[in-house]
Amino acid sequence: MNENLSLGRIAGIHVGLNWSLLVVAALIAWSIATGILPAAAPGQTATAYWTAGLVSAFVYLASLLAHELAHSIVATRRGVKVEGITLWLFGGVSRFSTESSSPGAQALITFVGPLTSLLLGALFLLVSIAVGGGANPGLVPASLAWLGYINLLLGVFNLLPAFPLDGGRILQSLIWLRTHDRLRATRIAARIGMAFAFLFIAYGLITLFAAGSLIGGIWAVFLGWFLLSAARAEEAGGLIRQALAGVKVADVMTPDPVQAPDDISLEEALHSYVLTSRHSTFPTHDVSGHLSGLLTMAALKTVAPDARATTSIKEVICPLDKVSTASPTDPATNLLNVSEGCSEGRTLVVDNGRLVGIVSPSDISRLMQRSLAGAANRG
Ligand SMILES: [Zn+2]
Repeated sequence: MNENLSLGRIAGIHVGLNWSLLVVAALIAWSIATGILPAAAPGQTATAYWTAGLVSAFVYLASLLAHELAHSIVATRRGVKVEGITLWLFGGVSRFSTESSSPGAQALITFVGPLTSLLLGALFLLVSIAVGGGANPGLVPASLAWLGYINLLLGVFNLLPAFPLDGGRILQSLIWLRTHDRLRATRIAARIGMAFAFLFIAYGLITLFAAGSLIGGIWAVFLGWFLLSAARAEEAGGLIRQALAGVKVADVMTPDPVQAPDDISLEEALHSYVLTSRHSTFPTHDVSGHLSGLLTMAALKTVAPDARATTSIKEVICPLDKVSTASPTDPATNLLNVSEGCSEGRTLVVDNGRLVGIVSPSDISRLMQRSLAGAANRG
């Protein structure tokens, strides 16, 4: 779910959206305008239905954003690093680059999302009644009532104890709180999540073959399969986290990487750095010696050979704000969530503003193989 469009910052948190969301918004507007509203508030013009449908779809997406903002704002307050929120096909995702260290904080960060949806749902329903909802509502109260029910549904659905739904995370936090054993909590919560996933799949197959409901059946099977793979990923993540317990970024990084000045030409970089070294990426520094970004092979290849002598590497480097950075004392598990982007999955390790190391995806896979082998040997 890549971000295609940035919406800027809300309450200090970066918000972006994926194009798939616009398709969903159009489908929601269509189903409200042609199905839900004509049934709930008959006798209006098509223009009125479509206007109400589009406005309701927009407010629904804003409600999804409110749910994610609640997670992210509380996470920031609890010292978790928030990368941003992306809205996509299945709703919203809050991306955290660090994890909460205590089960209480994790439970709170997770619970405020569904709580926001439930409160919004109740609020929309109350306003709907206040502006004349009831047996024969007008267009506005009918739209508000739909927004109320859909938010309540969203809140309740997210509380199901299955990963990656919020309920799965809350269950894991509660078991972690009781047993003081994070890995065991993850295992138990993942198993319960798998049981839910199998229920969804069974329900889907039954509706598909016994009741002949094609779309509903396939949708439930698909959802179950999605929950099942999420539960498995969560369990594997728990194992890796345990294997990496106590490992710091400094233990994984390649120390003191060669830095290239960013005002040389690509031609010079190729001969003085790339061809004379076994590394394929180089951190760069500006004239005053400050870290300025990362030169990658992919970036080098974007420039035609005959333009290399006249192009400065400053023009093609991955800028510092797009490269993930870490401190040498950070836990190595933070390196697992690095996004690809123009840095090709690399992390620059910075200590007091000074570059002290670099971590590449192959460093991470080597570390994981070693740690998992070690964990297996320990039994
Ligand atoms: Zn949530």
